[in-house]
Amino acid sequence: MALITCPECGKEISDRSACCVHCGYPLPPKPPEPNRFSVVLTSPPHYPENRKRMALALVKELDLSEKDAMDLMDSAEQKPVALRSEMTVESARAFANTLQRAGAYVKVVDGSSPDSPEASMSSSALAKERHGLGFCGTVVAVVVGVLAAHLIMALLGGLF
Ligand SMILES: [Zn+2]
Repeated sequence: MALITCPECGKEISDRSACCVHCGYPLPPKPPEPNRFSVVLTSPPHYPENRKRMALALVKELDLSEKDAMDLMDSAEQKPVALRSEMTVESARAFANTLQRAGAYVKVVDGSSPDSPEASMSSSALAKERHGLGFCGTVVAVVVGVLAAHLIMALLGGLF
């Protein structure tokens, strides 16, 4: 446990408390995961309209000028570029998805360098995927059930 200085009253408090014990100043909650993930652009889109969409996404997400965004994509043609570091795995994946929708090839790595290993699926992401599969399975079961019901009706209709 470390002691930090309260930004409001200046007294020493635990870095784990939710608010200052002296003045009640609320402290920002700790991030649930280490912010060590980065989004790496491995290949920018090639179609001009996709490059435009990608540039706009970078302008919005990274607060760049459109020219800087274009330059960043140009440098990624030569070698992979880490677009943003010190992210949680969830925020990195969300950012990567935004850029993938704009036509870019990006990956989420565990570290701050473009050569860092790719991030493995976090347990929460896996849980979400399992939930997704469960939902799809239910839909398939319902469709099969409806088809089977129709088949039985047709068979019964043929018998009588
Ligand atoms: Zn305080």
